[in-house]
Amino acid sequence: MIKSIPYSKQKIDSSDIDAVRQTLTSDFITQGPKVEEFERALAHYCGAKYVVAVANGTAALHLAALASGLKKGDQAITSPITFLATANAVLYSGAEVVFADIDYDTVNIDPKSIRKLISKKTKAILPVDFAGLPAKAEEIYKIAKSNGLVIIEDASHALGARYRGNKVGSCKHSDMSVFSFHPVKHITTGEGGCITTNSKKYYEKLKALRSHGVYRTDHIQRKQGPWYYEMKELGFNYRITDFQCALGMSQLKKIDEFISKRIEIAQKYNESFSELKEYLKLPAQEIDGEKHVWHLYLLRLNLKNSASVRRKLFEYLKSNGINPQVHYIPIFRQPFYKRILNGRKNHCPNAERYYDEVMSLPIFPTMSEGEFQKTVSTVKRFLTQKL
Ligand SMILES: *Cc1c(COP(=O)(O)O)cnc(C)c1O
Repeated sequence: MIKSIPYSKQKIDSSDIDAVRQTLTSDFITQGPKVEEFERALAHYCGAKYVVAVANGTAALHLAALASGLKKGDQAITSPITFLATANAVLYSGAEVVFADIDYDTVNIDPKSIRKLISKKTKAILPVDFAGLPAKAEEIYKIAKSNGLVIIEDASHALGARYRGNKVGSCKHSDMSVFSFHPVKHITTGEGGCITTNSKKYYEKLKALRSHGVYRTDHIQRKQGPWYYEMKELGFNYRITDFQCALGMSQLKKIDEFISKRIEIAQKYNESFSELKEYLKLPAQEIDGEKHVWHLYLLRLNLKNSASVRRKLFEYLKSNGINPQVHYIPIFRQPFYKRILNGRKNHCPNAERYYDEVMSLPIFPTMSEGEFQKTVSTVKRFLTQKL
């Protein structure tokens, strides 16, 4: 059977394998020195003071929601066009999720829509740097600060992106930023994630919550004995292992190469599709002067019957050995969310319209010229001959 072309995929080379092998044969395969080394490398790369590495991006969002103080009775605003984890993390904390609409062009949360939804209950905003294009961070920051809200940035798509000269994850315009190291993301640790922050208070809370809510300080150990620790709140085991962090460090060395390859593929898609402008809406390429880092390449149909054409094109690509994806079904359409929203209206016309017309085409560092040409020619053939 011929393997089909995925929408994304990790790139693992022999230096990654060597790094993992070395850690596997060392004294510590978990709770050893590699975790902190990886955290320091990420802090340096993003320009943040503190980093807490955890088991996956969802765990990172969960801990960030708890550290922010979100709880029952509170509300948090996010985009409906994101992975389920962004909204689920709010629910884990006991708070309610409120969905703001997206900007139709950038697919990022629309600050105007956030403003309309702020109530006395609102405690946090979770912007998502969708597809690798940062959200309108400065504007969202102003809204948050003038209303006393915490910003938890879901930067899972945007490691390596910049906003107004600062790296995403520097927390210049957020209280905490969250990344995922799932294999489809810019770098991978298998499963993994992290939170970046400049706040010592959040940092200490995140570290404790990662490991059962346990605190171990010199101060209390001097008083009570060297074995002593205190569980001060209900935490979890959300730890990441040392061999995953060894892989993460090895991957992080190659991030510039990974991103350049993604940018190169996106540019080639844009050039190839520019002659299909009567069918397509090409993706936004920058925000406030900063470049997209292309976690996803969004193919958007611009037709009267986009929804039915999207379905046929998706099936056509699949039957030709290309595996697109749809990112994402608006979260409020999920049966679970319908139930908990209990008829509460989500006025998100841009999210609805966007969902009907979109699919993600393959884009990943190991994508070959042949795979690229095949994808482009299959899309072109469908639009010009099969419609
Ligand atoms: C990948 C991703 C996450 C976290 O996913 P994990 O699989 O738990 O690492 C969260 N939000 C978004 C937008 C993502 O793409």
